[in-house]
Amino acid sequence: MVDRASTRGIFTGLLSILFKAINIHYFTRMTIRRALNMGFMMTWIILFPVVLIMLPASAGAGVPDTSLPFCKTPYALTCPGRNADTVREQKIAKIETELKGRAFEKMLDDIEDEGLKSVLQKFDDIDSVKPKRVRQSVEKIFYEKLREEFSRYISENNLPVNLGDEMVKEALHIAIEEAESISPLIKEKMHTILNETRFLAFQNNVDDNSLDDLHALYKLCTKSFEDNAFATTLKKEKVVVICPGEMIGAIEFGQEFAFVPNLKLYPLVMTLGHELSHHFDFKHYPSAYKQVLEEMSEHSSDFKKPVEKYMREITADIWGLKVAKIVMNKISNPLTRSKMYAGSLNDLCGSEDDGVHPSGRFRIETLASEYLCQ
Ligand SMILES: [Zn+2]
Repeated sequence: MVDRASTRGIFTGLLSILFKAINIHYFTRMTIRRALNMGFMMTWIILFPVVLIMLPASAGAGVPDTSLPFCKTPYALTCPGRNADTVREQKIAKIETELKGRAFEKMLDDIEDEGLKSVLQKFDDIDSVKPKRVRQSVEKIFYEKLREEFSRYISENNLPVNLGDEMVKEALHIAIEEAESISPLIKEKMHTILNETRFLAFQNNVDDNSLDDLHALYKLCTKSFEDNAFATTLKKEKVVVICPGEMIGAIEFGQEFAFVPNLKLYPLVMTLGHELSHHFDFKHYPSAYKQVLEEMSEHSSDFKKPVEKYMREITADIWGLKVAKIVMNKISNPLTRSKMYAGSLNDLCGSEDDGVHPSGRFRIETLASEYLCQ
C-alpha cells in the first residue's frame, strides 16, 4: 500500500529542490512550511481519485502471499472434502462415457459390414474383434471419432487451441534464470531443452510419422482418459503428453475462473511446468539440486523410502510451483489467486506416497506452501 510518510517525504524533498532551483530566498521559514503543507494537500486532492481508480488493480501486489487463505490452510482449502479426489474422478469418468458413447455411435455409422456391426454392441466389444487387422481398423475409426468428439467438447468450452504452453514455457525460462543455486552453464542447457520440448494433446494435430496414428498418443495415457500428463521422448524428440482426463479436469474445475484471459486452463499451469521440467530434473542434473536435496533430507520421516527416490518428482514439483507463482502473480485479487493455487493442486488430493511421488499432503502442505507462499 502507499506509504504516507515516505510519499510526503519525497514530495517535500522535491518541493525544496524546486524552491532552491528557482532561488526563492525571500520566503520566510514559516511561509515555506505552509507552502509545503499546502502543496502536500493539493497533491492529495488531485491524486485521490487516481489512487481510488488504481487501488483494485494494485491490491494483490501489496498483500503478502503468506496472508492468503491458501497459505494459512493449504491442505484444507485444496482438499475440502474427504472424497474430493472421488468427485473429480467421477466427473471425468462421466464426460469420458458421454464422449465415448457418441464416438461409438458415429463409428458404427461408418462401418458397412453388418456381421462386424452385430458384434459391436458396446465400446468394450472393440477389444474382442478378430482378426487383429480388422480390430485395428475398427480402433482407428473409433479413435478418429473420439478425437472429433473431444475437439467438439474443447471448442464448446471455448478454450484456446493451445494450452497456454507458451505462457508456461516463458514462466519456466524466468524461473530458471532466477534460480540462485544453478550454474550458468546448466541454466543454458535447461533453456535449450525447454525450447526443444513440444506439448502434445489429444485435440492437437500431430504431424510427424511417429504419431501419425493418434491412437499411439492416446495409448501413452495408459487408459485413454487418464487424469494425467507425462514427459517422454518420441524418436529423440522431447515431448509432454497431456492426457484427455487431465484436460477435462482442468476444464471442469477451472470454470470458476474462466473469465480470466489466458488463464482458462489455469489448473494445468502447474502440471505443465512440472512435466516440462522432467526433461531437466534431478536425474539429469543432480548437481543443480544439491540444496533441495539437503532441505528435503530434513523431511525424511515424511517419506516411505530414501529421499533420493523422490527427488525427480520433488524437483519437478518445485519448478511447477515456481511457474504457477509467476503466472498467477498476474492475478491481482488475492482471493482469486488463493483459489487458483488450491484449484491447481486439486488433483493431488488423496494421492498416496508411491515410493516416487511424495504423498499429496506433503506436496500441498510442504512443497506448495513453501514455493507459493514465501
Ligand atoms: Zn512427475
